Amino acid sequence: MQNNEEKFKKIIAHSKEYGFIFQSSEIYDGLSAVYDYAQNGVELKNNIKNYWWKAMVQMHENIVGIDSAIFMHPTIWKASGHVGAFNDPLIDNKDSKKRYRADVLVEDHMAKIEAKNQKDIDKARERFGESFDEAQFRSTNARILERQQQIDAITKRFYGSLEKNDLADIKALIEELEIACPVSGSRNWTEVRQFNLMFKTQMGSVSEDSNDIYLRPETAQGIFVNYLNVQKTGRMKIPFGIAQIGKAFRNEIVARQFIFRMREFEQMEMQFFVRPGEELQWFESWKQKRLQWHLNLGIGRENYKFHNHEKLAHYANAAADIEFNFPIGFKELEGIHSRTDFDLSAHQEYSGKKLQYFDPELNESYVPYVIETSIGLDRMFLAVLSNSYDEEKLEDGSERVVLHLPANLAPVKAAILPLMKKDGLAEKAREVMNQLKYDFNCQYDEKDAIGKRYRRHDAIGTPYCITIDHETLTENTVTLRDRDSMQQVRVSISELNEIIRKKLVVKFEE
Ligand code: ATP
Repeated sequence: MQNNEEKFKKIIAHSKEYGFIFQSSEIYDGLSAVYDYAQNGVELKNNIKNYWWKAMVQMHENIVGIDSAIFMHPTIWKASGHVGAFNDPLIDNKDSKKRYRADVLVEDHMAKIEAKNQKDIDKARERFGESFDEAQFRSTNARILERQQQIDAITKRFYGSLEKNDLADIKALIEELEIACPVSGSRNWTEVRQFNLMFKTQMGSVSEDSNDIYLRPETAQGIFVNYLNVQKTGRMKIPFGIAQIGKAFRNEIVARQFIFRMREFEQMEMQFFVRPGEELQWFESWKQKRLQWHLNLGIGRENYKFHNHEKLAHYANAAADIEFNFPIGFKELEGIHSRTDFDLSAHQEYSGKKLQYFDPELNESYVPYVIETSIGLDRMFLAVLSNSYDEEKLEDGSERVVLHLPANLAPVKAAILPLMKKDGLAEKAREVMNQLKYDFNCQYDEKDAIGKRYRRHDAIGTPYCITIDHETLTENTVTLRDRDSMQQVRVSISELNEIIRKKLVVKFEE
């Protein structure tokens, strides 16, 4: 197929055209790095959640779930280290006293270079008229190429420094590029400083009485502060886990990669409480279990990589990411962290409440150690979607866009298609629909030629198309078309539920 960047653009366009993902507030020109899940997107997302929940909670006798609130006591973020940790690079102009985000200044600078290229392109288009080929012009014109190289070099250096937290180099870059303050026009800049990534709001109606509270930047803390309640009321014995799916919010700076990095996103997290000293064994075991969860979906092993962290966060004594081969390259999809007793000890200290567990086998009390598995639901969505997107050339020379989604995740499991509306076929198709819709999410579709309807369902990844024709009326059989092979077989209506059910069975290998 085309290169990855083109593929990524196509997936984004496909997501919109086929009702998976819309830009938030689109009619108001959108809200940056915020997205809405549309009619098919929400089904796929819910199916991913269910697959995770089933594998983690239903399949493990020692793991239970919770759903904690997004708002939490502000001291929690002090205990967790989030208040006091900083994330966005800010810079002030000493003359205008205006404050800017360093990344915005650099990006504006790059946009100006790109605008020059655009101007040259517009001029050339005027000169050459109809025969003008923009792609060719971009790849051959010396001035355009030189400017593009500048943009690439700035991008590489800026994001490299940002990743390394090299704030001095970001300032040096702003100076080297001779970026001036848009208000004062001067290049008299302060040092670059970091700012907090948490969204702040107030609780209470009168501002003087109000308390600053935060939208949670991770769901994990809701589990930690409830761990003892769950342990006691659920009579859980160590080792045990608590799972949760929920929204998290981060005021991300580098938020430009579709649903890969959003300001409002969803996490699926599980915190596993273990005896101190046993955490590294559990860490290894959860790494393997989580990888297997991904592989059980049938997405090839070559698409996953472990990335073991050399530099560890202050709370961890081991950490690894499961990286996925996204169209934007191998990137973090899930994190597995051995968080020691950092969080529970901190909450014990800040709250003044004992968070110890009495271990009846050892006959002693301790603060448990924690292994965390944390996966971004939206990133998982992107992984599944991008992996299943395919443009196929068919034998008759035509093309089809198909999503080879794992059947259990597909938004619609079966499409019910009467060959034509008349002769009682529509009524018969409704009967089939009624027979299936209680068990599966099905769609009835009678509009357009049958081939067109097949394409529509290929494009949203529907595993089966069921066609009702004249033979159905006499024989009570239908044709069942498989999305991937496009093979059609004739089966009896009475077998349909069982055939679809079998297709949706997932392996829960460990
Ligand atoms: P990154 O390094 O990509 O910013 P992170 O290491 O900060 O991610 P964690 O804090 O470990 O991420 O969060 C766990 C998971 O949550 C990540 O593996 C990712 O899948 C997801 N996640 C984190 N930030 C975002 C975001 N802004 N948008 C979507 N998903 C996210």
